[in-house]
Amino acid sequence: MKRFRTQVGIVGAGPAGLMLGHLLHRQGIDSIILENRSQDYVIERVRAGVLEQGTVDLMNDVGLGTRLNREGLRHDGVYIAFAGARHRIDMAALTGGRGITVYGQNEVVKDLIAARTAANAQLHFGVTDLRVTDIEGPEPRIVFNRNGEPYEIACDFIAGCDGFHGVCRTSIPHELLRTYEREYPFAWLGILADAPPSSDELVYSLHERGFALFSMRSPTVTRLYLQCAPDEQIADWPDERIWSELETRLSTSDGWRPNQGRIVQKGVTPMRSFVAEPMRYRRLFLAGDAAHIVPPTGAKGLNLAVADVCRLSNALAAYYKSGSETLLDQYSDTGLRRTWRAQRFSWWMTSMLHKSDSDNPFDHQRRLADLEYLVSSRAAMTSLAESYVGAPLD
Ligand SMILES: Cc1cc2nc3c(=O)[nH]c(=O)nc-3n(C[C@H](O)[C@H](O)[C@H](O)COP(=O)(O)OP(=O)(O)OC[C@H]3O[C@@H](n4cnc5c(N)ncnc54)[C@H](O)[C@@H]3O)c2cc1C
Repeated sequence: MKRFRTQVGIVGAGPAGLMLGHLLHRQGIDSIILENRSQDYVIERVRAGVLEQGTVDLMNDVGLGTRLNREGLRHDGVYIAFAGARHRIDMAALTGGRGITVYGQNEVVKDLIAARTAANAQLHFGVTDLRVTDIEGPEPRIVFNRNGEPYEIACDFIAGCDGFHGVCRTSIPHELLRTYEREYPFAWLGILADAPPSSDELVYSLHERGFALFSMRSPTVTRLYLQCAPDEQIADWPDERIWSELETRLSTSDGWRPNQGRIVQKGVTPMRSFVAEPMRYRRLFLAGDAAHIVPPTGAKGLNLAVADVCRLSNALAAYYKSGSETLLDQYSDTGLRRTWRAQRFSWWMTSMLHKSDSDNPFDHQRRLADLEYLVSSRAAMTSLAESYVGAPLD
């Protein structure tokens, strides 16, 4: 068994784990990041793409803004489409100049891995059989195998940044963890296509056949989503069927429609709301999807993960600087408040914009009335805009 020691052991090299490692490094705190997938897999995983204003500001503040500012697409507004018409919500005008930036999660991950490598800090991919142990005591440990050899890392703290299916949350004694969950009776079929975006802002659309989202990743790549069944088989969706359904659900009476192009990636994303509380057990802290999942309609998952680790790194820095545990003690409660706000917004956007098999005509008309109110009331648009661009980081 090879034995090492670090101040903070980080499980998972998604956005949460990598950003935490970067923030800690800037504070002079030692960490080791352990990831069970390969580096290529982690970089190529296509997931979120909308960064809140606070996430962009943080990336700039911590020296990660160069490529983001060059390649990210800043949006001041967003479109809501229904009954054949698109309605623009001017988020920047309604929130004192705040907006969102389209920059793929895999680009964020690429920037963070580059920063970690440049800092010569420890980041290990492809570890297996990882477990956290001794979490009751003052020196929790992470054990795992790497290249067929067993390792053990003794830590002051462990950060569980290992996503919804990770091992950290399930290491917390079951009776001490309360979970809240909602599964939705639909999923998203998402594609990436080599097609220049036909709108320079996102279009969220409710159609009688279901929800669709027009989005983009760059000036030449469009990202599109369709509401589908949770058990949808991607094999049942040849490209022609996908384009036909997207055209039907997204085209508006002013002649706007998505541009078509070669589909380079497709997949089905489940929709779930989930919260685990507390986000801490002794010296084990949960961050990002390990602690909470939001349906992607509100574009909050990645941003919540960043907000968690920003708070956690500040709390750890205060601890190492002065011995104070005040911020560590507040980590869970403060995070849960932000999480529930994001849950409310994501649930509301999802309910307003998706149809369900149990709907009757009343439900569809009520949804249209909701949308009609949204796009005609400055108060309602401000409420959406404030939540969409996100609250400043704690
Ligand atoms: C399939 C999918 C599609 C998504 N699509 C969208 C989208 O379109 N729009 C949107 O806004 N949001 C989307 N999200 C949400 C968003 O991507 C997440 O909120 C975000 O990835 C959270 O980051 P994280 O670092 O907390 O977790 P993750 O990104 O899940 O990172 C966790 C990391 O831990 C690793 N890991 C897990 N178990 C172990 C272990 N035992 N040992 C070591 N490492 C481990 C995983 O391999 C992973 O790299 C999607 C999420 C998923 C799962």
